[in-house]
Amino acid sequence: MEKTLLEVKNLSVCVEGKQILNNLNLNIKSGQIHAIMGPNGSGKSTFSYSLIGHPKYQISSGQFMFYGQDITRLPVDKKAKNGIFLAFQYPYEIEGLSLRNFLRQSYNSLYSGTEKELSFEEFNAYLVEKTQDLKINSDFLQRGVNFGFSGGEKKKAEILQLAVLEPKLAVLDEIDSGLDVDSLRVVCESIKKVKLNNPSMSLLIITHYPRILHFLEPDFVHILKKGSIVESGNKALATTIENEGYK
Ligand code: ADP
Ligand code: MG
Repeated sequence: MEKTLLEVKNLSVCVEGKQILNNLNLNIKSGQIHAIMGPNGSGKSTFSYSLIGHPKYQISSGQFMFYGQDITRLPVDKKAKNGIFLAFQYPYEIEGLSLRNFLRQSYNSLYSGTEKELSFEEFNAYLVEKTQDLKINSDFLQRGVNFGFSGGEKKKAEILQLAVLEPKLAVLDEIDSGLDVDSLRVVCESIKKVKLNNPSMSLLIITHYPRILHFLEPDFVHILKKGSIVESGNKALATTIENEGYK
C-alpha cells in the first residue's frame, strides 16, 4: 500500500482576523495526483500559503502531518527540506538574481551534505539536462528570477524549479492562470515529464478552471467551498463542474 504523504487534519485558518478555512481534511498518498477546485475566493491560495507557512495565514486549529510527523509549525525552509514545494499563483520577481543562481542556491540549500549533493560542474550539467528536457532556452537562466517574464515564462520558471528541486509533494497554485491554451499545453507537458521522471512525487493541483485537468489527469478531485471540502471524487467530478459550475 502507498504511504500517506500529507494528512491535513481539521485545518482552520484565519487571515487578518477573518476565518477562511474551516475544518478542512485531506489525505494525499505518495505518487497520487489530487486537484482542489473551487471558485475564486473559496480559500485555495489560503490553503497553499498555510501549508507552506506564510506568516499572514494563521492556523487557528488543526494540523499538517507529513510522513506521519506534525509539520504544522515548522519554518518554511524545514518544510522545503522535508520535500514540500509550492509553485506560486503569482510568482515573485527578483531583479538582480539570475534564475541560474537562484536554482543553484535553492538546490544546494536542500541537498548539500546529502547523497544528492552536486559540485558546481555537476550542477551545471544537471541544469543543462533539465532545461533541455523541458525545452527551455539556456538564455532564460541568465535573466533575473521572473523579472520582466511574461505570464507563461513565469509558469515555466516555476516548473523548472520543480524539475530541479524534485520535491516529494508539489503544490501548484493556479499554474494555469493567465495562460493561453497553447502555453497551458506546454506547461502541462512539462509537469507530466517531471512526474514521469519522479513517479513517487505527489501533485496537488489547485485551480478554479477544469481545463487543466484534461491535461493532467488527477486521481482525486476535491471541491472547496467557503473554506471546506464539500465533495470529493474522481476526475469525473471535474467534468461535472465543467458542465454545471460550482452551484
Ligand atoms: P482563492 O485562492 O480560492 O481565490 P484566497 O485563499 O486567495 O482564495 O482567498 C480567500 C479569502 O481570503 C478571500 O475572501 C480573500 O479576500 C481573503 N484573503 C486571502 N488572503 C488575504 C490577505 N492576505 N489579506 C486579507 N484577506 C485575504
Ligand atoms: Mg488563489
